[in-house]
Amino acid sequence: MSFLTLADVSKSFGNLHAVADLNLSVEKGEFVSLLGPSGCGKTTTLQMIAGFVETSSGRIVLDGRDITDMKPNQRGLGIVFQSYALFPHMTVAQNVRFGLEMRRVSKTESEARVREALALVRLEALADRFPRELSGGQRQRVAIARAIVIAPPVLLLDEPMSNLDAKLREEMQFELRAIQRRIGTTTIMVTHDQSEALSISDRVVVMEAGRITQVDTPYRAYERPENRFVSEFIGKANLFSGTVVAHDGANVHVEVGADRIEVSHATHPHPRPSDAPDVGDAVTVCIRPEKVRLDASGAGRLPATVTSRFFLGSQWLYRVDCRLGEVLVCCQNEGDEPIAEGETVGIDWKREAVRFVARDARHG
Ligand code: ATP
Repeated sequence: MSFLTLADVSKSFGNLHAVADLNLSVEKGEFVSLLGPSGCGKTTTLQMIAGFVETSSGRIVLDGRDITDMKPNQRGLGIVFQSYALFPHMTVAQNVRFGLEMRRVSKTESEARVREALALVRLEALADRFPRELSGGQRQRVAIARAIVIAPPVLLLDEPMSNLDAKLREEMQFELRAIQRRIGTTTIMVTHDQSEALSISDRVVVMEAGRITQVDTPYRAYERPENRFVSEFIGKANLFSGTVVAHDGANVHVEVGADRIEVSHATHPHPRPSDAPDVGDAVTVCIRPEKVRLDASGAGRLPATVTSRFFLGSQWLYRVDCRLGEVLVCCQNEGDEPIAEGETVGIDWKREAVRFVARDARHG
């Protein structure tokens, strides 16, 4: 049995099904992110694990114990809120010590534990400061120290980076992951930022309208999205709707407008030929922008015209128009002159870059 299990957990507010029949198993020491657009039920799920929101149905089991009906303080989980919720009139050390005092831990032991927690988040030198005397990143680290000092079985993080600017956010992502590795605490983080979830999680739980649409490693969720929603929500995607017109031992041929796209059985998410779509099935295929090659001389599979371009620093993002419609192409910035808008180019891709992301009811 997994360390933390949510079995058929639902939450309704009146007629609104904020979370519906959610099933999730988290292993000990794992870092799992709940990811999805605003209103998809991430925070409600986290709050049900924390005990701040009662479940409408379903069970939550932690380390073999059913905690569904327990009060938040009986669950003993570590929580970092979006606002950090530090006590303004207490110093950093007092903030961190608070949870230990509530648990009546002896003074000597609590002093040692506070020191240890502050060392872990590299804030020993600021122990006597007040929250108002700290930067956003430092405040966030106090909130983490306060949550982990009680040695919780699970650490819950609700959009912990959302108050930080982009640069600090990136630094704190590395930091948070490093801290989590050191203490080994099972961690569940809510975020709507896909790059944040991909970069620090062992697994991502992608949610849409109260339901899980895919649970996977970040790499697989990106490389093998199981549906249209995941392919668009995680990273950029060129999606083409078409009809299967032929089928051979190696490939499925999909007619898209006046063109054909081949999908290799070898890279198909369901590699058994019997799982592959049939002739006549309506399908959607996905090609990631960085998997499309762009040839300035116009060579390649499809002629195309550059309609716009965006400089991203390490990359160029081009929008091109071709027989398939609009296609996004992402190229490494190798220091060459970029291709001008209006130029005619050629685009191409490896067959392995093409994925099915949606099929008709039979293949669901
Ligand atoms: P965000 O990223 O915006 O925080 P979220 O994915 O965390 O969104 P939730 O806060 O879990 O989403 O909300 C899910 C749905 O439940 C939303 O439609 C929200 O309006 C609704 N909801 C949440 N809390 C309550 C409540 N206490 N009463 C009524 N509806 C609620």
